[in-house]
Amino acid sequence: MTRIFAVTNQKGGVGKTTTSVNLAAAFARAGLRVLLIDLDPQGNATMGSGVEKRSAHRTVYHVLLGLADVAGARARSQSGGYDLLPANRDLAGAEIELVGLDNREGRLREALAGVASEYDFIIIDCPPSLSLLTINGLVAAQAVLIPMQCEYYALEGLSDLVGTIKRVRAHLNPSLDIAGLLRTMYDPRNTLSQQVSQQLESHFGDKVYQTMVPRNVRLAEAPSYGAPAVVWDDTSKGAQAYLALAEEILARDRNDIGGGVRTMEAT
Ligand code: ADP
Ligand code: MG
Repeated sequence: MTRIFAVTNQKGGVGKTTTSVNLAAAFARAGLRVLLIDLDPQGNATMGSGVEKRSAHRTVYHVLLGLADVAGARARSQSGGYDLLPANRDLAGAEIELVGLDNREGRLREALAGVASEYDFIIIDCPPSLSLLTINGLVAAQAVLIPMQCEYYALEGLSDLVGTIKRVRAHLNPSLDIAGLLRTMYDPRNTLSQQVSQQLESHFGDKVYQTMVPRNVRLAEAPSYGAPAVVWDDTSKGAQAYLALAEEILARDRNDIGGGVRTMEAT
């Protein structure tokens, strides 16, 4: 079965793109077939995958507007070992153009239907907003992965995001779930980080991934080499954290299949 994750947080700079790119590469390393979708006009996931965003003729923009299909627009991340649906500045205009089209919230979902079975994992790197682009990501996904920095305002923003997820679930995608909350750029020596981290655990319980991503310069350097850190320096603390996260996600999935939760729901 294909797993489709939207990596979402309306705050910028919390590690969405770093998480998307490294998780894609970590799953690819595990032998899984992965499609990474760059849904941010900044095109950072595209560049971080080693694909030149300016020379991408067909992008996610064309897919959303029905001008290309996924098979005709995807590129290959040679460094990452996964397929990429690239993005660039073109996508900034999509928001307005989408408004006039029908099924404007479900266009990505519709476009993925034809290729989903070719992949084990599809990861959607959302832009830093709760815009129509992000809604397309949430409607296409089965679950949301929320990267967050453990700082003072983090929890406040989280309630807006959870509200949006609830609205999408109520009206557009009833099976949307929260896959997990990921603590990024974590500094265990910082008391505030520890406090926010504990609050997260008490609010969200086992929805909080056990894996924490530390602040690590290799994660920040890797994009300038056009490669995920997981490939570029797999011994770094940052890469190790994302490899562990991939393991944790796969283990959760394994436990889910035929496990208590689903069996209980079925009865
Ligand atoms: P977002 O996609 O949420 O805007 P990014 O993944 O682009 O966030 O991260 C924002 C910046 O922080 C980038 O420059 C990135 O390289 C850097 N960064 C992300 N995660 C880490 C980390 N764990 N340690 C150090 N730098 C990081
Ligand atoms: Mg980003």
